[in-house]
Amino acid sequence: MAEQRDPYEVLGVSKDASADEIKRAYRKLSKKYHPDLNKEPGAEAKFKEINEAYETLSDPQKKAQYDQYGFAGNQQGFGGGGFSGFGNGGSGFGNGGFDFGGSGFEDIFSSFFGGGGQSRQSRTAPRQGRDLQYEMNLTFEEAIFGKKTNIEYSREALCKTCHGSGAKAGTSPVTCHKCGGRGFIQVQRQTPLGRMMTQQECDVCHGTGKEIKEKCTTCYGSGHVREKHEVQVTIPAGVEDGNQMRLQGQGEAGTNGGPYGDLFIVFHVSPSDKFERDGAEIYYTLPISFVQAALGDSVKVPTVHGDVEMKIPAGTQTGTTFRLREKGAPRLRGNGNGDQKVTVTIVTPKNLTKAQKEALKAFADVSGEDPAGDDSFFEKWRKKQRKKH
Ligand code: ZN
Ligand code: ZN
Repeated sequence: MAEQRDPYEVLGVSKDASADEIKRAYRKLSKKYHPDLNKEPGAEAKFKEINEAYETLSDPQKKAQYDQYGFAGNQQGFGGGGFSGFGNGGSGFGNGGFDFGGSGFEDIFSSFFGGGGQSRQSRTAPRQGRDLQYEMNLTFEEAIFGKKTNIEYSREALCKTCHGSGAKAGTSPVTCHKCGGRGFIQVQRQTPLGRMMTQQECDVCHGTGKEIKEKCTTCYGSGHVREKHEVQVTIPAGVEDGNQMRLQGQGEAGTNGGPYGDLFIVFHVSPSDKFERDGAEIYYTLPISFVQAALGDSVKVPTVHGDVEMKIPAGTQTGTTFRLREKGAPRLRGNGNGDQKVTVTIVTPKNLTKAQKEALKAFADVSGEDPAGDDSFFEKWRKKQRKKH
């Protein structure tokens, strides 16, 4: 971007010139440098510059923006508001990644704008503490039924001696004598372009604007202490692997009187050797004999809520799925439980005894060519069996 001159300078008016004064200055200069009237070299460029300056200063919004931020104020992203989000860490998850550490960003910001915009305030303004993450292992059943538990972890907490001020008991921080509480100081720097005024973080208060004459003996002036912190957690019934739970205010202490961050608990649920789970639905595979499948039976099926009696109708095919209503996991959002879905697989017998083999041969004989066994054939076989006993 080409260097843009101060529009006040271009129009030759003072910073507090009225709208009328600006307009008059513009009319005079634009007439003087109009390319149709002025054939001097550079007149055209000058005319353009005058028009741009007037465009900025005649629009109240653009003028206010320029007064506060300079030309950078016209660029996207420098609109002041866009910045405030960075300083406070946000309330999102894993904010550590978004933490610009305050200084890096603001240093660029302040060297951009000589004017000391609102960004500086974020350094001295209350800031929420960091969010923390806690990984919690749960068994398959714990995730389904929930539980109450206490967890302990280490965190930065507010110093109880000085209540976060960092000052010795009985004293309080005072406004920094060097920067007057602004947190930054103006310094003159020699650059290839000449001497420039830039802003720097105050070396006495390190940008906080507060000076501690006598430091707290517990936290050595930081206002924070590391502590073991215990929290009771009520895990809701129905959580799943990867779910997160947010405990407000259980993260780390804020600065400048800002609130505590949050704690995010991430659940890791171990698999079950019996069941599969998908949300509130639980899946179970039930092996049955082909006799049970053919004749029907009543069997005990395990569920997370205890064994349930289930009827297998005669003639059940392998792969058939039955539904046990409300025997699944609780719905995390909503009412009641999901279902347990029971899929039967028919186990083909191995290592048959002689008697078993004969019985099967006899079955095959009466079944004829039809391997699936027609109902009428099957009924005959069943009656025969009953007669035998
Ligand atoms: Zn302290
Ligand atoms: Zn200072």
